[in-house]
Amino acid sequence: MNYKDIPIRRKLMGAIMFITSVVLLVMCGVYMLFEYSSYKNTLKSNVSALGAVIATNSTAALAFQSSADAAEILNALKANKNIVAACLYDADGRLFATYPASLAVKDFPATPQKDGYRFEGEYLIGFQPVFEKETVLGTLYIKSEMTVIYDQLTSFLLIALIMLSLLLLVAYVLSLQVQKIISQPILSLKSTATVVSEMNDYSVRAVKTSNDELGALTGAFNKMLDQIEVQNMEIKDAAAENSKLAAIVDSSNDAIIGMTLDGVISSWNDAATQLFKYQADEIIGQSIMTLVPAELQDEERRILSGLRKGEHISHFETRRLRKDGKLRDISLTISPVKDSHGNITGSSKIARDISEKKLEEQRKNDFIAMVSHELKTPLTSIRSYIQVLLAKAKTEDDSFKLSALTRADAQSKKMTTMINDFLNLTRLEEGKIHITKEVFELHPLIAEVAGDAQFLNASHNIKFEGCEGINIDADKDKIGQVLINLLSNAVKYSPNNGLITINCQVIDGRVKVSVKDHGIGIGKEDQKKLFDRFYRVENAKVKTVSGFGIGLYLVSEILRYHDSKMEVESKEGSGSTFSFSLPIK
Ligand code: ADP
Repeated sequence: MNYKDIPIRRKLMGAIMFITSVVLLVMCGVYMLFEYSSYKNTLKSNVSALGAVIATNSTAALAFQSSADAAEILNALKANKNIVAACLYDADGRLFATYPASLAVKDFPATPQKDGYRFEGEYLIGFQPVFEKETVLGTLYIKSEMTVIYDQLTSFLLIALIMLSLLLLVAYVLSLQVQKIISQPILSLKSTATVVSEMNDYSVRAVKTSNDELGALTGAFNKMLDQIEVQNMEIKDAAAENSKLAAIVDSSNDAIIGMTLDGVISSWNDAATQLFKYQADEIIGQSIMTLVPAELQDEERRILSGLRKGEHISHFETRRLRKDGKLRDISLTISPVKDSHGNITGSSKIARDISEKKLEEQRKNDFIAMVSHELKTPLTSIRSYIQVLLAKAKTEDDSFKLSALTRADAQSKKMTTMINDFLNLTRLEEGKIHITKEVFELHPLIAEVAGDAQFLNASHNIKFEGCEGINIDADKDKIGQVLINLLSNAVKYSPNNGLITINCQVIDGRVKVSVKDHGIGIGKEDQKKLFDRFYRVENAKVKTVSGFGIGLYLVSEILRYHDSKMEVESKEGSGSTFSFSLPIK
């Protein structure tokens, strides 16, 4: 088994035992070397002392040249078993006596060598000069075995081995305990991790037994489990929330379509299948353009690029293609889909089939158009009769007839305005409204409209200022219509009479025309919807005021056709100011 794969317990014990063995062996080795060298020194001094004694004893034998005496003296070396050979040389270096006598002459050095004791191979040899006073009588050669050293070393080794074994045994027993201190927390961590991974139980915790690095590791591991547990709960909650949302999406009556930023359909609910007749698996992954009629594809591309830039496109009405090629009118709500960092990653589209509603509206428009058209002809003839009668009453100077006919004329004018509004509305719906621009002076138009309004509403004080000498390039009739509608509203919604001012202001090459009244004013919420078709404010103050909620819609559409828009500033109870601007010619 690879060392790395050995369990931590055995790895730790192995490491402890290995280190202990190495330390003990090195210690024994060093000690043995030291002992060896000290044994050698002892042997050397013992043999040299013996040599000195023998050399002293040999002086007489050498002086009297008695080799028999010399041999006897050498024979005393028998007492020392380590001495394997010895001999005496005379003053001329000739071999004089040997020990043991049985040894051949060739086993001794032929002549004495350098004085002193030294180790040669397996032996200690020494040459000791023999003196008689100052005179050298000869030389003693002595050769000793080193068996004694090896014997001592062998017994030392034996003791060392026994000690080593005993010490290793003690080290083993101690390491058994010591490894537990380190391995226990790791094994506890491991068993906790096993429970977590195998049983998916994130509620277990490892036991912290110390405050060292392992304790810190256990603490960090437990903290990590805390976090995972919390995250798991959040994921579970989110999953539950997601499945709730998915159920809502599936049961929605509106088609809900998910789409990437590149316009690829990524989700599709049942209502989408009902509306567009595509099954989810055949449309998911396809481009959203599959549903967009050719003439609206540029608009869709603009929406997609707007979404990528973070533009907020919300609600509009448009047309979409069904699988069978039929066009449906739909209302579309587009919302950006963001990731957890707030980056837009796609969009969701909620589509509602409004074809039936559109058809209904069409029928209503047709009806209004027809009624308006039918009313217009008799009204025109009524107005011309009133004009004739008015002229006649003037010549007859009949003040009653004059006053009655003037009122009849005013009311018929109001009716004409109303009918014109309806006809304009239907034209607008059908895209039949045409703007015929001409350059004209603003002042006379305002004077005429304000004069008429003043004539019709003597109770109000209508003034205009700052409009002289300004020429604009616009559709005169339509701008007149805008002014009439704004003025008639200012009158209608100022029940306490009061002052109504038309003001012209030149700013940056444009004229800003505003109609200001001091009437009931409009609340903030209503201001947002004022220009919607058929929108009327609903409160006690306006309940009695007649109207259809199309005047401001027409005004804003006419201005849209002139690349301008209507603005309103108002506060409930303090009056309103409606203004628009047009470029000066
Ligand atoms: P309406 O025929 O109801 O007057 P408009 O489209 O002209 O329709 O106006 C929409 C609504 O705006 C009105 O119903 C009215 O509540 C409000 N409004 C319009 N002009 C004024 C104004 N000058 N002061 C107060 N409210 C106004």
